[in-house]
Amino acid sequence: MARIVIVGADFAGHTAALYLGDKIGKQHEITVINRYDYFGFVPSWVWVGVGQMAPEQTTIPLKKVYDRKHVKFIQGAVTEVHPDENYLLVSPADHGELRRVAYDYLMIATGPKLNFAATPGLGPSAGHTVSICTLDHTLHARDTYLEQVRRLEKGERLRFVVGTGHPGATCQGAALEYISNIHKDLLKRRLRNRVDLVYLSNERALGDFGIGGLHARYKGKFISSEEFITAIYREYGIITEIQKGVLKVDEQRIYWEDFAGCYGETSYDFAMLIPQFTGQPLKYIGRDGSDIAERVVAPNGLVKVDATYGLDYETLRRQPDAWPASYQNPSYPNIFAAGIAFAPPGPISIPHVTPNGTSISAAPPRTGMIASIIGRVAALNILSMIEQGQATHHERMSEMFAACVASMGGSLWDGEAATIIIYPVVPDYQRYPNAEGRDMFVTHMELGTGGAWMKRLVHETSRSSRRWTTASAPEATRRIDDRQRTTAQRRPAGRPSSVVENPARTSGEQR
Ligand SMILES: Cc1cc2nc3c(=O)[nH]c(=O)nc-3n(C[C@H](O)[C@H](O)[C@H](O)COP(=O)(O)OP(=O)(O)OC[C@H]3O[C@@H](n4cnc5c(N)ncnc54)[C@H](O)[C@@H]3O)c2cc1C
Repeated sequence: MARIVIVGADFAGHTAALYLGDKIGKQHEITVINRYDYFGFVPSWVWVGVGQMAPEQTTIPLKKVYDRKHVKFIQGAVTEVHPDENYLLVSPADHGELRRVAYDYLMIATGPKLNFAATPGLGPSAGHTVSICTLDHTLHARDTYLEQVRRLEKGERLRFVVGTGHPGATCQGAALEYISNIHKDLLKRRLRNRVDLVYLSNERALGDFGIGGLHARYKGKFISSEEFITAIYREYGIITEIQKGVLKVDEQRIYWEDFAGCYGETSYDFAMLIPQFTGQPLKYIGRDGSDIAERVVAPNGLVKVDATYGLDYETLRRQPDAWPASYQNPSYPNIFAAGIAFAPPGPISIPHVTPNGTSISAAPPRTGMIASIIGRVAALNILSMIEQGQATHHERMSEMFAACVASMGGSLWDGEAATIIIYPVVPDYQRYPNAEGRDMFVTHMELGTGGAWMKRLVHETSRSSRRWTTASAPEATRRIDDRQRTTAQRRPAGRPSSVVENPARTSGEQR
């Protein structure tokens, strides 16, 4: 019987656990270790963050799902990995003693460390900005946003800034969704005319998204994602500030450097800025007790897999095969990494260095769909390692299809969404010898209410699976922490108060 341990249970780890549980849950021992006791449906947090959706509608308790799949579950945080001796240490969520968990195969699917510390003044814990990257962050963002709404209701005029908070940040799609949902929410509240909405980003051009942008057919014409997103922002009256790497934030201003090397600042009353993503700070310890991190992880803490690392951008651009295929660690073939946790070989978007030497480059995204696909590939490889002694499955991001539905208002009646279908995610200029390196028949963009319905459909599917798996309200959604209770008490009469949770003990910055 093989022992398989998966660390992290969101898009990558949860998908892997479901695949493995289905296929070999009865014959082998599968254990998932996750900081929270629920799966968080992250894409819907853009609705939670404006008070349009209750947080418990975006979580699925894990244990009952895993019980059905013959998967063991431990709630806690992995602190150390001992790859020479095949075990790891877990700090359990109940604050009990460190627990030793042995494995034959390990999948690291921990997502990113939210590195707010890389930008002084950034983030909800030690800084001045909010975040929607974890559920507890999102609840704080929602409460801060609703406080601003009350100021607007009193007649104040304010400036909200949403975007990226580090020169090398990724996840611009989440910022696009959040600012669009703020726009729609303010329209509903008849307060939009009192707010300057600013999208501030490190992207080379609007619609770059860290994938170098795209061209696609839209309403029968080939247009660029830059034109597509520019038109949306123009219609929404959103001010755009791009090619800016945020260096510092204080209580009133965001300080940045732009592509030309000029320094400037943007004032704000409310700001949600995505931090730099690095790897989770796990310790990797050898048999003799030494630090062997460099055998397992890249300098940024993300797990090294079967990519070709160290290529310059131009070389990497010509080598789609440099992108990993099996997601297996080269030093320890029984360790795999999936989702945001794996180290990409380099950027997809053209990197930019300012005359001052600052690198302002949107990092490659690994969205929920991409993370799930990689989770499945890594799971199937663990299966084939057990059954055939080698990893037989592969799917590079340069061979991968992705669909992204960016919500722009959750309403099924007047909400809309930008749907972007892209193939392959990483351009392959050999297979597709056009300026894009992509299949122009498949790659597509669409804007409309249909996307809002699709997004809601995906959300409701995950909700119905939650209802199906829970006989009563899960522990995670019953707890209301003091902060949230205080906020609920402050909420003006007539405004519905959603039940909120304290998602276990969280260390916001280390999601
Ligand atoms: C607001 C927002 C909206 C988004 N919208 C979309 C969208 O519409 N479509 C889309 O495709 N993508 C979207 N994304 C991106 C998507 O959410 C991520 O790509 C995806 O969550 C990555 O999945 P993952 O499993 O790799 O990592 P994560 O989702 O970060 O999950 C990692 C899990 O591991 C746990 N963990 C971390 N460290 C440890 C440890 N030491 N021990 C135990 N557990 C640990 C974490 O708590 C977490 O549960 C959005 C992101 C945000 C922030």
